[in-house]
Amino acid sequence: MTSPSQISVVRRGLMLVLSSPSGAGKSTLARLLLEKHPEIHLSVSVTTRDKRPSEVEGIHYHFIKRERFEKLRDAGDLLESAEVHGNFYGTPREAVENALVAGKDVLFDIDYQGTLQLYDKMRTDIVGVFILPPSATELKTRLERRAEDASGVIEKRLKNARTEIAHWEHYDYVLVNEDLGETFRSLEAILAAERLRRERQLGLPPIVDRLDQELATLTS
Ligand code: 5GP
Repeated sequence: MTSPSQISVVRRGLMLVLSSPSGAGKSTLARLLLEKHPEIHLSVSVTTRDKRPSEVEGIHYHFIKRERFEKLRDAGDLLESAEVHGNFYGTPREAVENALVAGKDVLFDIDYQGTLQLYDKMRTDIVGVFILPPSATELKTRLERRAEDASGVIEKRLKNARTEIAHWEHYDYVLVNEDLGETFRSLEAILAAERLRRERQLGLPPIVDRLDQELATLTS
C-alpha cells in the first residue's frame, strides 16, 4: 500500500516573482533559494545596462544592445519589459513557457512594472512577493557596501526606491527583510504552501476518485 508521504501529485509550475527596491536583499534571497532548491528555474532577463564586474553573461543577465532589445520586444519575444533606472529590462518568453510546461517553478527578480504586466497576463500562475528593507538607512548602507555602482547611481536607486515601495500593495506577500535567515525561511514557507494550492495540483482528481472508490468498498 502507498503511504501518503509517497504520493506525489502532478502539479502545474508556478511563477515566483520577487520585487524590492535595489539593496533590500532580493538577489541574495533568490540566490539562496536556487542553491537550496535546484529544481527551480531562474528566469534570466535581458538588459541594456552595462555588466557589473561580478556579473556573468547568461547567468545574471543576457547583456544586449538597445536595438536588439527593441527587436525582441516588438516581435513579442518578451513576456514583460520595463525601463528601470534608465536601462531596459525584459523577460524572454520562450524559456519561461518551456519551464512551466515541464511542470517547473520559475523564479523572477523583476520590478513592479514587470510584475503588474505578468499579473495581467498570467494571474493564476503568479505568486508575487515584495521585499521591504527594515529602514532607509539600512538600504543606503547595503547599496554602499555592494560598492559596484558609482555614487550617482546609488542616489538614483535610492530615489527610485520610493516609487518601487509605493507598489507593495499589488503583491500577494510582503516580507520585511530585517534578518536574512528569517526572511528566507518565510520565503520557503510561502513556496511550500503555494505549491500545495488545490488549483495547482492537477493530479488530485484521480487520487480523490480512487479514495472514494476504496471508501465505497470498505463501507458497502
Ligand atoms: P539591477 O540593475 O540592479 O540588476 O536591477 C535593477 C532592477 O531591475 C531590479 O529591481 C530588478 O528586479 C529589475 N529587473 C531585472 N530584470 C528585470 C526584467 O526582466 N524585467 C523587469 N521589469 N525588471 C527587471
